[in-house]
Amino acid sequence: MSSTDSSANLADAYDVVVVGGGAGGLSAALLLGRARRSVLVVDAGEPRNAPAGHMHGYPSRDGMPPAEFLAVVREEVAAYGVRRIQGTVSGIEPDDNGEFAVALTDGYRVHARRMVVATGLVDELPDLPGVSERWGRDVLHCPYCHGWEVRDRAIGVLYRKEAGTHQALLFSQLSDDVTLFLDGADENELPDADWQMLAAAGVGVVRGRLGALIVGDDQLVGVRLESGQEIEVSVFVVPPRMVPRDEVLTALGARTRETPAGSFADVDETGLTSVAGVWAVGNVTGPAEQVVNAASSGYRAGAAINADLLRTDLERRAARRRAGALPS
Ligand SMILES: Cc1cc2nc3c(=O)[nH]c(=O)nc-3n(C[C@H](O)[C@H](O)[C@H](O)COP(=O)(O)OP(=O)(O)OC[C@H]3O[C@@H](n4cnc5c(N)ncnc54)[C@H](O)[C@@H]3O)c2cc1C
Repeated sequence: MSSTDSSANLADAYDVVVVGGGAGGLSAALLLGRARRSVLVVDAGEPRNAPAGHMHGYPSRDGMPPAEFLAVVREEVAAYGVRRIQGTVSGIEPDDNGEFAVALTDGYRVHARRMVVATGLVDELPDLPGVSERWGRDVLHCPYCHGWEVRDRAIGVLYRKEAGTHQALLFSQLSDDVTLFLDGADENELPDADWQMLAAAGVGVVRGRLGALIVGDDQLVGVRLESGQEIEVSVFVVPPRMVPRDEVLTALGARTRETPAGSFADVDETGLTSVAGVWAVGNVTGPAEQVVNAASSGYRAGAAINADLLRTDLERRAARRRAGALPS
């Protein structure tokens, strides 16, 4: 694994500072490094999928451990001169030239002409004993990330009004043994159409309030209701509340947009936010940005930034030539 740089060895200014070194940020850094841009990646080192043993759905890397995937990309970006530092960005201050002073929590400050914010999101888990301990192992959220691995198993799905019955229906594609746990919710919350879909999909429904997950030999074996009733499941699906790590963007006044999962950074097709010079990529821009999408958005942002810098520099040079400051 390529090691991080020490802030003592870093330059004071970069073409681009990337905040966050997951798939989104490193992908932008890879493109920009290859375009001979000076790039610093500042990464706090807590990628969202770290609890999972394997990453799925990324062509050519399906099944690779997430840490191994990032280690490979770190090596790749380092080969193009991208610098990477372990740290947390606490603020981005625009200056009068439309560029930025980037402040880290350890006091280090660095200048950037353009910014990429790739800080991801935090999964806030339901407050049920056992859920956070098993998260990413046999407590899951995404049929596309882990569904194949749990096919044909006894799958419990936690109902929450905000998430509805969608996950239960999706997991019914993977197993004939899916149970939706209403956890005491009023069953009238579910429209008739939902009840009909659940029945058509063969999804069972348990109404009682949940007490805890039951774990044996380091494996999920069931759930216990508050009534004491135990129901066997070996997989439990929860809908986390997905909260973007967008503090540096909101402090800049970046516009947000509403999604079914809440408010996320509003970006154009290249990832440009409403703040000139600041791009955002990956999960900080939306809940559905899987690894491959995050990498793709990083790539698009990198290309847009490179073109933007090139145009800015050439316009300046052309103006100086017109003014006679440079030979024509
Ligand atoms: C349990 C689990 C399993 C998953 N499995 C899959 C899967 O199999 N396939 C798939 O495609 N997707 C999977 N995902 C989704 C996947 O994690 C995301 O799609 C992906 O991590 C998004 O990449 P990102 O670069 O946007 O954010 P992240 O990977 O979360 O990276 C963001 C980085 O920014 C850093 N950071 C945050 N704030 C700051 C700051 N202020 N300063 C500096 N650094 C900061 C963080 O520490 C982190 O290192 C899974 C998610 C979970 C929760």
